[in-house]
Amino acid sequence: MDRAESHQEIRAAVRDLCARFPGEYWRKLDEARAYPEEFVRALTDAGWLSALIPEEYGGAGLGITEASIVLEEVNHSGANSGACHAQMYIMGTLLRHGSDAQKRKYLPDIAAGRLRLQSFAVTEPTTGSDTTRLKTMAIRKGDRYVVNGQKVWTSRVQHSDLMLLLARTTPFEQVQKKSEGLSVFLVDMRSSAGKGVTVRPIRNMPNHETNEVFLDNLEVPAENLIGEEGKGFRYILDGMNAERILIAAECVGDGHWFIERASRYASERVVFERPIGQNQGIQFPIARAHVSVEAADLMRYKAAALFEAGKPCGAEANMAKMLAADASWEAANVCLQTHGGFGFAAEYDIERKFRETRLYQVAPISTNLILAYIAEHVLGLPRSY
Ligand SMILES: Cc1cc2nc3c(=O)[nH]c(=O)nc-3n(C[C@H](O)[C@H](O)[C@H](O)COP(=O)(O)OP(=O)(O)OC[C@H]3O[C@@H](n4cnc5c(N)ncnc54)[C@H](O)[C@@H]3O)c2cc1C
Repeated sequence: MDRAESHQEIRAAVRDLCARFPGEYWRKLDEARAYPEEFVRALTDAGWLSALIPEEYGGAGLGITEASIVLEEVNHSGANSGACHAQMYIMGTLLRHGSDAQKRKYLPDIAAGRLRLQSFAVTEPTTGSDTTRLKTMAIRKGDRYVVNGQKVWTSRVQHSDLMLLLARTTPFEQVQKKSEGLSVFLVDMRSSAGKGVTVRPIRNMPNHETNEVFLDNLEVPAENLIGEEGKGFRYILDGMNAERILIAAECVGDGHWFIERASRYASERVVFERPIGQNQGIQFPIARAHVSVEAADLMRYKAAALFEAGKPCGAEANMAKMLAADASWEAANVCLQTHGGFGFAAEYDIERKFRETRLYQVAPISTNLILAYIAEHVLGLPRSY
């Protein structure tokens, strides 16, 4: 089977799985502000969330292109990858920088669905996008680190056994470069609950399981440090290209969903004795949104190909994420407008998807920060922040 055929097989299989979780399923969860446990379990059991884990650890050993196709199809089906996508890319930090012992201890269980590693605590309330300024401190005491601080927007932590934590091990004032002195830890949430970790859910616009996390003398065994102390920021940056590519694919999936819904409705809805889609004022914005999604998709595949070839892809991964997030948002607006009043009715799922896709403009990285990256690193403009 060639690669294109295998992509078709992945798409068909993920589509079949998602068909078991129709709009009604997501609507009920949205109303109850509940987590899609059944859906995430089904994706896990089918092996899709371990797509990027190498075969030697029990995963599928697929490339980033294939992994991104999985998430694209999830979003294209009307579902939301936000409930589980991080399992795919967080694991990369462990895979690339973890010790052999750590990999053998965790990866096979993650691949088999016995363990979930889908929470990533970076953002803090007082420092936001200025990541290297984060204040959470981990101080080594013998065979453990004692962690104090606060995280915000820590997603899926209530449904994760393990949480990847970025903390300072050397105070900001004592490092030569601001990116030094940060370290990454694997926190076992099962043994930490009530022992230094308090989780407070944040009610938010999409139904996204996200939280404030308070760390109060949390003890983390030194063996849970990933890689070298003080090099954590680099490890996190390493994983970001994969994250950007996967998120871009989700946006492409959303974009297709919105455009298909808009096209269908515009063909069926008759007002003034003709389908509304016969008016150029309705059909051109839909066509334009389609063009935007297709263009973003090309950048997503370009970034994925560079990533798989082990070549630098920071610019392409960031551009893909930005273009795709913009395209899905354009498609969302067009779809809502095409549906007129009905777009606002929950039973059409459009207002839900609209809220979900809006998030990609801000998380996991906001558009301005991507533009700042392109300006500085691609165009050589002065650093603006
Ligand atoms: C639902 C949700 C889930 C999330 N999940 C996670 C998670 O799992 N783990 C995690 O660590 N984080 C998570 N985040 C946090 C997310 O990554 C941040 O919200 C995002 O990076 C922006 O940081 P901030 O909210 O602190 O905004 P700020 O940094 O306060 O920025 C506010 C606005 O100002 C803009 N801005 C800031 N500085 C500049 C500048 N120099 N130039 C131009 N514009 C600028 C930003 O682009 C943004 O639009 C999540 C956020 C949300 C909303």
